[in-house]
Amino acid sequence: MRTRRTIAVALSVLTLTAVAACGKEGSPNDDAAGSAKPQLPTYAVKTDFKLESSPTWVEAKKNGKLKIGAKSDQPYLGFEDVQTGTRNGFDIEIAKMIAADLGFTDKQIEWQTIASANRETSISTHGVDYYVGTYSINDKRKASVSFAGPYYIAGQDLLVQKDNTAITGPESTKDKNVCTVTGSTSVDQIKKYGAKVTQYESYSQCVDKLLTDEIDAVTTDDAILKGYAAKNAGKLKVVGKPFSTENYGVGLNKDDKALRDAINDALKAHEDNGDWKKAYDATLGLSGSAAPQVPALQRY
Ligand code: GLU
Repeated sequence: MRTRRTIAVALSVLTLTAVAACGKEGSPNDDAAGSAKPQLPTYAVKTDFKLESSPTWVEAKKNGKLKIGAKSDQPYLGFEDVQTGTRNGFDIEIAKMIAADLGFTDKQIEWQTIASANRETSISTHGVDYYVGTYSINDKRKASVSFAGPYYIAGQDLLVQKDNTAITGPESTKDKNVCTVTGSTSVDQIKKYGAKVTQYESYSQCVDKLLTDEIDAVTTDDAILKGYAAKNAGKLKVVGKPFSTENYGVGLNKDDKALRDAINDALKAHEDNGDWKKAYDATLGLSGSAAPQVPALQRY
């Protein structure tokens, strides 16, 4: 065990050294070239917090672990570093600030990668206690899960090869090969424009197909696409004509109003104390957009 941990630490030190070295060389992937890197906030764990009226919280407390669903391949939002096994991104920070307010340490979080198509099932069958992963609040989903938030507003957009001048907005995707993810809101919204739609389980699979020229565009939320564009600077670009409103919510069990209220309280507290903005600047902000206004919570 100790050996494995030592190797893991050694590997992460190596990775950090490699990243630092890249920064000095001014590699294209150097996110904050030339400026001081924004720091992530830390969240004090409310060890004496209690929420006996929430079945989800009571069960998590009894088990000493909180099961959080997230994405693992969306840079700056929900990303898993396979070398260190750690997760990073704006959604991960949102999930962590909530966990701390509910009385759980980072070590008590059990992360689960859940694809867009499997979110409602995972939440409603208690596979996860809550889900934070570019998850748009809408009425169809509200039939099976409930939402705290919104904590961010995105809009659907298009990602294309840097030299593409043919696709300038959704109207120009008619008969074009456009890739998106099954179970996302992006599917129906692009179909309206007559695109030929290919669906995968994750957006990174679409991005791979775009890089190898097998499709014309990837479509989903601009927040997601900007991350891929930043990671593939010089090769890909976001068109920049958002054509939907995606209110990102924290998905949770439909029957657990006490948990929904507590998550909304946590979001409000961390928005008010500046953690939201700090977390944004140190994650999603690195893909090139200044922090937007924090949306008003929709309590119900
Ligand atoms: N926000 C959209 C949705 O919830 C697209 C992104 C995603 O698939 O996570 O469907």
